[in-house]
Amino acid sequence: MAGGAAWKDVMRQEGLDDMTLLSKVTNEQIRDNLKERYDNDIIYPKLTLSSQTSISDVLISMNPYKAIPIYSKEIVAEYVGRSRIELPPHIFSIAEESYRSMLNEKENQCIIISGESGAGKTEAAKKIMFYIAEVTGGGNSGGRLEQVKNIILETNPLLEAFGNAKTLRNNNSSRFGKYFELYFNKNGDPDGGLITNYLLEKSRVVFQIPGERNFHVFYQYCVGATQQERNDYGINSAQDFVYLTTGNTLTVEGMDDYQEWNDVRKAMNVIGINANEQASIMQCLAAILWIGNLTYRVAGEKATIADQGTLDFVAYLLSVPVAFLKSALETRQMETKHGANQRGTSYVVPLNEVQALAARDGLAKAIYSKLFDWLVERLNVALKSTSPDYCIGVLDIYGFEVFDNNSFEQLCINYVNEKLQQIFIQFTLKNEQEEYVREGIKWTPIEYFNNKIVCDLIEEKRPPGIFPVLDDVCRSVHAVSDGADKALQQRLSACSENPHFQLRAQNFLVKHYAGDVTYKVAGMVEKNKDQLGKDLIEMVQMSQNPFITGLFPESADSVVNTTAGFKIKTSANALVGALTKCTPHYVRCLKPNDQKLSNVFDGPRVMHQIKYLGLLDNIKVRRSGFAYRTIFKKFIERYFLISGRTSYAGQKTWKGDDISGCRAILEDAPVDKSEWQIGSSKVFLKAPETLFAFEDLRVN
Ligand code: ATP
Ligand code: MG
Repeated sequence: MAGGAAWKDVMRQEGLDDMTLLSKVTNEQIRDNLKERYDNDIIYPKLTLSSQTSISDVLISMNPYKAIPIYSKEIVAEYVGRSRIELPPHIFSIAEESYRSMLNEKENQCIIISGESGAGKTEAAKKIMFYIAEVTGGGNSGGRLEQVKNIILETNPLLEAFGNAKTLRNNNSSRFGKYFELYFNKNGDPDGGLITNYLLEKSRVVFQIPGERNFHVFYQYCVGATQQERNDYGINSAQDFVYLTTGNTLTVEGMDDYQEWNDVRKAMNVIGINANEQASIMQCLAAILWIGNLTYRVAGEKATIADQGTLDFVAYLLSVPVAFLKSALETRQMETKHGANQRGTSYVVPLNEVQALAARDGLAKAIYSKLFDWLVERLNVALKSTSPDYCIGVLDIYGFEVFDNNSFEQLCINYVNEKLQQIFIQFTLKNEQEEYVREGIKWTPIEYFNNKIVCDLIEEKRPPGIFPVLDDVCRSVHAVSDGADKALQQRLSACSENPHFQLRAQNFLVKHYAGDVTYKVAGMVEKNKDQLGKDLIEMVQMSQNPFITGLFPESADSVVNTTAGFKIKTSANALVGALTKCTPHYVRCLKPNDQKLSNVFDGPRVMHQIKYLGLLDNIKVRRSGFAYRTIFKKFIERYFLISGRTSYAGQKTWKGDDISGCRAILEDAPVDKSEWQIGSSKVFLKAPETLFAFEDLRVN
């Protein structure tokens, strides 16, 4: 075992490693244990849980908000090949367990990382990637393996630059969800991967609340652009761009935008984004910034671009004729339908101020989100696997969040968090208890809050949930106007029967598993509609720059009527489907305080998280439940040596039926009768220690 201070840090014991062993099962004890450890810089306790398939750990991670020396290569080496019970809980232990059980059980694994914004999910995900890159490829697997590992590691700086931003909750907040499937070949070497991204918060491109920033990449670009880029694309200081200053925050403490920009450029090179493509990316970013500087002159119901110079420059950046850009930003083509089969007459109507600003901002948001999708797509090309035999999926999404003003984005983010809580409940509480019932095991059921009711409130068709109601309004109300929000307000009353919903004057409240959130109705319909006008699509498709036209491949006429709500619902359910096919591992991240401070343990704040995460329920189920279970046949095969009735001189002699064989073994073992039960198809052992005792008896 390696020496050194770092290793001692990991091995220190303060409080309990495994909270299922607490002397009293109360929320206060959980909190006190977390505090005792946190005060000593031990951020990882765990809960040992059992499921139908295995005993596994739920890792609890308490954000220290300071560097703790427990992530070195030396410590990686300690965890390699070690089982979860040998070493203290650690993010590396979860990574190790996932990796080993993938190879040993030949089953795909997933690591589900959850927690509020700022709790440490992305950091945890990165450490898992780091661990896997460190422990794989010891052999002579050659250059491709190194390259794959490099690409995997380089995805982070790139995706974080384009997808993360400073928010009030987190200086490096993920504003998109990400499921990263790492593929491995039969030898266990990384062979590629696939990134699925979820709903980027694109409204941030055009607006940030005070104290927040736009996506990091813009600020990095403004400090890091080359002289050539400054000349060609008009890149100035961030201060000069409206889109970068609405939050009145240009820098982030502890973040070096210049350095990060260099990392981004390096990542682009590693991933294989060529010079032309990089130039086009720079051009798109500049175009977005300059679109934000376009201003309108308003005369009554008519808004026209006020600044020809800026307009010309945007047209140049997008490589489109300026006249088309101008008309797409000032007018809209309308078509009147005369009869079912007749062609309508088309005419041009000027946009009013609100509509014109929406067109301008819509264009910027669309270019950015298409650019983001392009990057993910490009990463996936670079990560394309040649022989994916197994997979470990790492899920790192945006955490549950509550602001003073919450809108459609928060609804989507919090909805995805509800879905994740739902599968956690299924894996750890629901399936478990249902199995006891199925097997006819004597047992006292544990009550727990099942948040399915909240998922239903948001996504179900009948009774109509919030998304279906929103979609309905989007379909029936054409012009995005005041009327749309009013219609939504009215129709939301259809949700009122759900006890987790309350309709108010201008907003509605959802009682989420993690707390109550009030959502503003204003603007929701438009955000759900999520459509760039036909005029704008036709305009960008005229670009002389194939990169830009490539971002908008769809034809303006065939713009599908898919809403943002429908998309997130579909992809969240697909994600749940994918996760349920894997052996799950859990990391539950907690925040010690809301001030991003180190060494501050805000008791009530932590208590709130302990409660809604349902840690107590997990412990109760685990303690009154059964840590281990296996089907009769397997139990006999493994433990026949324990009983004289089933074995003779190291040979299996049992000829009777399986259930009686199991009974013979259990009765003959020196283990208290209360420690086991026989179900209809499986043997159940209560404590993990009983299993260890059986293992001992078998060999000795
Ligand atoms: P969001 O939902 O907003 O994306 P998150 O859960 O992904 O939040 P992170 O970005 O991972 O949160 O963590 C927030 C910050 O907390 C990090 O930038 C880092 O400063 C600190 N932090 C998190 N985990 C650790 C850790 N294990 N050690 C030290 N600092 C950490
Ligand atoms: Mg994050």
